Amino acid sequence: MTAAVVLKPGREQSLQRFHPWVFSGAIARIEGHPAEGDVVQVLGTQGNMLARGHYHSGSISVRVLTFEPEPIDTSFWQRKLAAALALRQQLGLLNDHSTSTFRLVHGEGDGLPGLVVDVYGTTAVLQCHSVGMYRIRELLAQQLIALPRSPIRAVYDKSSTTVPMRERLTPIDGPLAGAPPSTDMVLEHGCKFNVSWTEGQKTGFFIDQRENRQLLRELSHGQAVLNTFCYTGGFSVYALAGGARSVVSVDSSAKAVEATTANVNLNFGLQAPHQAIAMDTFEYLRTHLEPFDIIVLDPPAFAKHGGALRNALQAYKRLNLAALKRLRPGGLLLTFSCSQVVDRQSFRNAVFSACAIAGREARIVHQLSQPADHPINMYHPEGEYLKGLVLQVG
Ligand code: SAH
Repeated sequence: MTAAVVLKPGREQSLQRFHPWVFSGAIARIEGHPAEGDVVQVLGTQGNMLARGHYHSGSISVRVLTFEPEPIDTSFWQRKLAAALALRQQLGLLNDHSTSTFRLVHGEGDGLPGLVVDVYGTTAVLQCHSVGMYRIRELLAQQLIALPRSPIRAVYDKSSTTVPMRERLTPIDGPLAGAPPSTDMVLEHGCKFNVSWTEGQKTGFFIDQRENRQLLRELSHGQAVLNTFCYTGGFSVYALAGGARSVVSVDSSAKAVEATTANVNLNFGLQAPHQAIAMDTFEYLRTHLEPFDIIVLDPPAFAKHGGALRNALQAYKRLNLAALKRLRPGGLLLTFSCSQVVDRQSFRNAVFSACAIAGREARIVHQLSQPADHPINMYHPEGEYLKGLVLQVG
């Protein structure tokens, strides 16, 4: 029999509003003995069925898969993955000859909490953020391969750093279906990138900056561009594609700098006006005094949880202030935060403080977010993690 989580009185409301998480504090009792990652029922005080989802013994106790009284079986997964693919088709991402990489499953945004699937050419890279998804990863891989009208021919599992309870599960990354290569060259708006899911961060590439990089391309003609936290050089390649006069890429990881150089060479050969530097961004901004026309700040999440929020906001302020000092009057600052716990307004306040301390006039010319293949579940605003501003600074 399926185990059941019974809610405390008055705690049904968020589920009735389709919020996909049940927190441990909302639970009155658990009927049965669910194992980590089992599908459980969520019941109201009257025994009424509210939802079904994956159980976890942490603070988010249930990640909801459905609010309907339907079985969570093979056909359920097949329907969910097909719906995710249909959305990307509807968004025009599937038959786009200039782009061969997109996010196919974005957790709660696709009604599949705990699961991320990124597509690189013919390989799908699957990343599980819950034990429930991890336990069925092979089934998911088979379903991904079987999806009609999809480019997917192989599936690679990249969950070793993201699944909870790693000591117990001892996850190892590797192929799940087909024969995935370890690396591939993908196209994004016509730009070429070598992506390695075996070596790279996340699933190998930051697909979420695709449209923001395209915007940078449009802004870059004749400009001197600084791309900090460059990783594999996404923004740098687009700036050069847009006709930048010069591009400097900075990342503290020597491997990332190597990858950036390789991606620039792949697109433009060895003569591109590009320099890649392995250095801490704060250090670079302190020690290099030449001004830039455009500066990109795309740091890793400064706050991974709510407790780190204050320090994170201080760090965003310091970083933006340091960059403003290197921005030519009239220049553009493209500044981002990918911390889920930093909301749009708090981020904007941090950038506001940096501008005020720098004593520079500034106007917001673009407010940026994550692209359409990283959809935000209307009832789960926490899913809106990527925030960006383009400022023209006087
Ligand atoms: N903008 C990139 C993604 C950035 S990921 C893209 O479009 O693909 C964040 C990067 O910041 C990582 O490559 C990491 O190595 C780098 N990083 C982290 N801390 C850093 C620091 N203090 N200085 C410079 N780079 C840093």
